[in-house]
Amino acid sequence: MCRGCARPIGRGELRFGELLPNPYGQGEMTLWFHPACAAYKRPEPLLQALGETPAQLPEREALARAAHSSLAQRRIPRIDGAERSPSGQARCRSCRETIARGSWRIRLVFFEGGRFSPGGYVHLACRKPYFESSEVLEQILHFSPDLSGQEREELRRAYVDDA
Ligand SMILES: [Zn+2]
Ligand SMILES: [Zn+2]
Repeated sequence: MCRGCARPIGRGELRFGELLPNPYGQGEMTLWFHPACAAYKRPEPLLQALGETPAQLPEREALARAAHSSLAQRRIPRIDGAERSPSGQARCRSCRETIARGSWRIRLVFFEGGRFSPGGYVHLACRKPYFESSEVLEQILHFSPDLSGQEREELRRAYVDDA
């Protein structure tokens, strides 16, 4: 399983391992990711690994570019996709207002102690103050694999309309 997207990493597929001290005891543990998921959610260790990997990686440039786009602002690696709010109860971490049922919200996760924990939501329309005007559509779409093609199109349109 990839720690970034919670989907399986295919057999024989290139994967990225981040070695961390084991928070539950001695030794170290390795977190495995799809390289693109690590580029968006763990950009610094991924870039370091790219620098230390002499192997020919066809994806090297795309991965470095993705990692740099997530390094543009410190909150961007928290992005865990987007969804239409199933209820009207959650509050936006940016404006503190509730998020209306059916409106788009960005899911956030926090990386701490070797794991990602749910970190709440922000309105799609609040991404500018929260991410300080950085472009984040790539990250949002990457971590929204469950959306249908039509939903992705609606999300893309809502993103552009809120610009
Ligand atoms: Zn992944
Ligand atoms: Zn908001």
